[in-house]
Amino acid sequence: AIMVAMSVATIAEVYGELQRAAGAASRLLELLQIDSEIKNAANPKPMQHGNEISIAFNQVDFYYPSRPDSAALKGINLSIPKGKIVALVGPSGAGKTTLFELLQRFYDPQKGDIMFNSEALTQLALTDLRHCMGMVPQHPVLFSSNVWHNIRYGNPDASDEQVIEAAKRAHAHDFIEQLPEGYDSFLGEQGVRLSGGQKQRIAIARAILKDPEVLLLDEATSALDAQSEFHVQAALNELMLHRTTLIIAHRLATVTHADLIVVMDKGKIVDSGTHQDLLAQSELYQRLCELQFDKAQTVNASTA
Ligand code: ADP
Ligand code: MG
Repeated sequence: AIMVAMSVATIAEVYGELQRAAGAASRLLELLQIDSEIKNAANPKPMQHGNEISIAFNQVDFYYPSRPDSAALKGINLSIPKGKIVALVGPSGAGKTTLFELLQRFYDPQKGDIMFNSEALTQLALTDLRHCMGMVPQHPVLFSSNVWHNIRYGNPDASDEQVIEAAKRAHAHDFIEQLPEGYDSFLGEQGVRLSGGQKQRIAIARAILKDPEVLLLDEATSALDAQSEFHVQAALNELMLHRTTLIIAHRLATVTHADLIVVMDKGKIVDSGTHQDLLAQSELYQRLCELQFDKAQTVNASTA
């Protein structure tokens, strides 16, 4: 009976991975098809590098081209001051990832505007946009190459010293040094296997090296062990300094640190405020906390 139970759990896990991979593949195909619709403005507005960026969504509606009858985002109004940290929370399908896709201009909304400082996103040069934005994905991809290359991806011109500095700030330097060949160690499929928390810190080091004005962070859903959690949070705190940050948040530590928490459901913003505000006022937030943060709260309570 135990054997059967285990294999069912394994199948469920593999099936989940497959579904996710299939989703990513169809999204990729869709991007390839629609990419040509995303055009550079005729006379793009220059963007000053090094300036912090405020972000605003004004009455944004968005429909995926394949689903013209059902809004993925509807009536989104959101204003994020320079340098602030905003956490997006909400059930699966709420539109959190879609919002990130619009920010990166993988798609343009059918209605409304997204503004960076006082310019519409569509008026900025695409290359400027790519330069000013950094993304730390849920499942960072490591290349089949050494640690140097994997971190330098954030900025191909960076010196070895800068790579090491970024790794230090990402709380990755110590574990990298302990790999069989340090920074020369080979990562990826055939290389050294890193834990989820270590992969995230490599991705954070990349982002630190890129030094973007706007940071998009899609937190990992899977729980990290307490030590890894501590290092990842410290690395993120370092990364988020002095930049406008949006986080799709799954961890209590993140939402309690956020300046603003935005609660999304079915393509709409249903509530927003601080953790304390929302605990007092938002029924959906209370439910999400119970569901998503159950584990974290248990850990906090037991270590208090
Ligand atoms: P979340 O990240 O909050 O789980 P998503 O932004 O991924 O939500 O999805 C929002 C809605 O858009 C869902 O109804 C989802 O099914 C739909 N959706 C997401 N990606 C696509 C796509 N590539 N094509 C069509 N519909 C999509
Ligand atoms: Mg998502």
